[in-house]
Order: sequence, then structure tokens, then C-alpha cells
Amino acid sequence: MNAAHLYSIWPKDPAAHLYEVSLTVEKPDPKGQVFEMPAWIPGSYMIRDYARHVVGIRAESDGVSLAVHKLDKSRWKTEPSDRAVTLVLEIYAHDDSVRGAHLDTTHAYFNGPCVFPAVAGQEDTECSVEILPADLAESKHWRVATSMNRAGAAEYGFGTYVASDYDELIDHPVEIGNLSIGEFQAGDVPHVIAIRGNTKADMARLCHDLETLCSFHMEMLGKPADLDRYVFLLHAPGKGYGGLEHRWSTSLVSNRDSLPIRGEDGVSPEYRTLLGLISHEYFHLWNVKRMKPAVFTPYDLSAETHTGLLWVFEGITSYYDDLALVRSGLIPETEYLELLGQTISRVIRGQGRRRQSVAESSFDAWTKFYKQDANAGNAIVSYYAKGALIALALDLKLRSETEGRSSPDAVFENVERHRRLVFRTPDHEARLHAGHVGRRGQFLRQEPLERRQIRRHAFEDEIDLAVEHVALAHQRPFARFGLES
Ligand SMILES: [Zn+2]
Repeated sequence: MNAAHLYSIWPKDPAAHLYEVSLTVEKPDPKGQVFEMPAWIPGSYMIRDYARHVVGIRAESDGVSLAVHKLDKSRWKTEPSDRAVTLVLEIYAHDDSVRGAHLDTTHAYFNGPCVFPAVAGQEDTECSVEILPADLAESKHWRVATSMNRAGAAEYGFGTYVASDYDELIDHPVEIGNLSIGEFQAGDVPHVIAIRGNTKADMARLCHDLETLCSFHMEMLGKPADLDRYVFLLHAPGKGYGGLEHRWSTSLVSNRDSLPIRGEDGVSPEYRTLLGLISHEYFHLWNVKRMKPAVFTPYDLSAETHTGLLWVFEGITSYYDDLALVRSGLIPETEYLELLGQTISRVIRGQGRRRQSVAESSFDAWTKFYKQDANAGNAIVSYYAKGALIALALDLKLRSETEGRSSPDAVFENVERHRRLVFRTPDHEARLHAGHVGRRGQFLRQEPLERRQIRRHAFEDEIDLAVEHVALAHQRPFARFGLES
């Protein structure tokens, strides 16, 4: 086995938003080593060409400079060498989103695809990363939050971390700064929440609520064998919203007003939105990070990877995100129905559902859903929102037909056993309905391909009931579907 690839990252010039990244490869390709930056980040289906932020690159071997040739927009090749090769990059980082890398005098945040090149042909090699502190007076109390395993670094400290291969390396976002940190346990797994940008949050309340929420998911879906720690990285600016899922962590952005503050109880609409976002990203820990489309195993990060199945991974996740809030007791039924009503309205109001099926919307996510323009409402159906309604329809149908004995929960019950389960187009439904969905196989086979409203005859009674329940929200409508109020 090759010696680990040694990466280091240093906030070289925070005021100019520049990181210096170095990478030493012990056994480079003797014909010249190719290095490659990803064009996209898993979970966000748009070409972002992270190599465009590389503003300087050089290589050396044994203290001697090596020539670096650019091969295309994302790849470089170093001059042949039979000794270890070190590549040094300067990278501009001024994208303060969950998909980017950012650096200034107040903090450092990065996603691996933005800063770490892959060593072509050696992607399976172990990687170690030395995270170095900035040379900055303000950074004296900065701490490091990441789900990456420590290998010498103190807890929340600078120093060395490790990942078993490149795929894992770039699945651990890192936040560095003056962080508020909370810790709790869920399903016997230590969980951490690290917040940047808000010091007034009621951390005890937040940890209590997240423990409730995460324990609910963990109980329903089962603890993945490779989950020994989970980290929420939360940026709380004046305004913002978004999240990106990872295997052992998630990056979140939410208005600072959405956080509960000390002395406050009840769940404000903003806090409810934040809890829904957290629930969504946490559900992904199973649905898309461990069960995933076949075409994502492994990811090809050099170009678009089309799949008609994003509605399974985003739609079903969107269905369960708010549902978990009501089922775990964090919000009352009336509020859940209000949220469900909003999703139904969003799908019905959009005319795009007549142009696209959710399978088509999934397939074209790269150039349509992620690149919306003035015509989006007419041309695109959201695989999130309509996918959630398909999951709702399936849930209602299953509970109704089995008198509450079965539900889509069952699909995920043995997710640990199916850790390598992959969905394939066009026979994805085979796995989804195996043993659980029964006669609804036809529904799942057809529905994602339809360019119209979900077929009423498929679940006529149930959807009428659901719509009625939105209006009659105070009459304990979930009793029939096994949801306790
Ligand atoms: Zn999602």
C-alpha cells in the first residue's frame, strides 16, 4: 500500500482570502503525476469548476523545482520524478456558502473539493491533513470543528487529521474560528454542534431538541456501523439559508434569528424552519450518503453525472424532514399540516409539473433546477416538493391498505443491512417496494415518469383526506395513520 498522501492547509493571507495548500505524494507516477480538482461537490448538482480558484501552483522534488503543465480546466501534470513530489497551491476562497471555501480575518471554512486536489490513479490511498493556524492576532482563540478523525490534533485543535481515502477526505467540511460548541448523544453516538456567528443561542435548548430529533431518526433508521461521531457546522449570519449533507457531518446556514435564545420557549416559525433543515440534512446521512444512485458509486467529479433518481433522495428526504418534527413531538400536528399544505400548494401552483416529471427534473437538475431563470415556474417541477408528495401518497396508501401496519419507514428500516444498496434506473422500484410496498410497485414505476399532477386514482381517497385534513387541522387527523398526537 502507498504511504499516505500528506496534505496541509494554511490560512496564508486571511485579508486577501488566500489559502496555501501543499500535497506530498511519496510514490508519484514515474511518467509524471496528474493532479485534479473536482468540478462539483456531491449533494450540489452543478458544475462549479473549483480549479478556477487556484491562483498559483508549483511543484518540487527533493528541493528541486519541477515543471507543472496544465492539461485542461481541472488537471495538471508534473514533470516525471522518481522521488516524492510536493505540489503547492495558492487558492482564493471567498465563497461563504455550504458548497464553497471562505477565509477572512474572522474565520476559515472549507470543503475538501474546493481546496484539495486528487492524486490521479491513487484515489484509494489514505490521506493525512495538517490544519495549520493563521498567523493572525485575532485567531488566538480559534478552534477547529470537523468530523474528520484526529491523528495527533487535540480536540477542536489544529494539527493532523486523517481520512481513509480521497472520497472520505473531501466529505469532511472544516470550520475554524471563534465557535460556540454544544455536545450531546443520540443513539449512543456523540454529536457536536459548532456555531459561527451567534453567541446568544440557547445551546442547552438546541442540544436538547437536536437530541430528540436525532434520536428519532436513529431509532427509525438504525445506526450505521461506520458512524462513530456526527458534527453539525452551523453558520448563523444576519440572513441566509441552506445545507449540504455529508456522511459524518453537515454544513448549515441559517438566519441568526432562527436560533432559540435563552429564556424563550416555544418553537418560532424561524426555529421550526431551522429544525426542518437540520432534520433534512440528518436524514441524508442514510438517504443519499449511504444509499445512493448506482452512478454515484464512485462519484465522477470531473463532469455532470445524470440520474433520474434525485426525487428519491431529495423528495423522500423532504417528506421525512418535517414529518420527523411532528412524530418526535417537537411541533404540534397543526403546524405540520400547515407545512404540508405549503408543499402541496407549491407543487399545484407551478405549471412546470405539466412539462416535467420528477424523473426528468432529476436528470436535468444540472442545467435546469440548479440554473433557474424567469421561466423556471413554467418549465420545472421541483423534485424536492413533488417528490415529497409522492412519498406522502405512498405513505397514505400503505398505511391505509395495511391498516397502519406498514409505511415507507420500512424501506429504511434495514438500511444498515443494505448499506451498499444502490438504486438503478429504470428498475429502481424493485428495491424500493421489495417486501414492503407490495401492490404499489406499479405506482412507483409510473409516478416518477408522469408529467402531471400525481394521478388521483392512485390514492384518491387518501389525498382527498389529506387535503381535507389541512383544512380541518384541529381534529386529530393523524390518528388513522398511526401518528400519535
Ligand atoms: Zn437534501
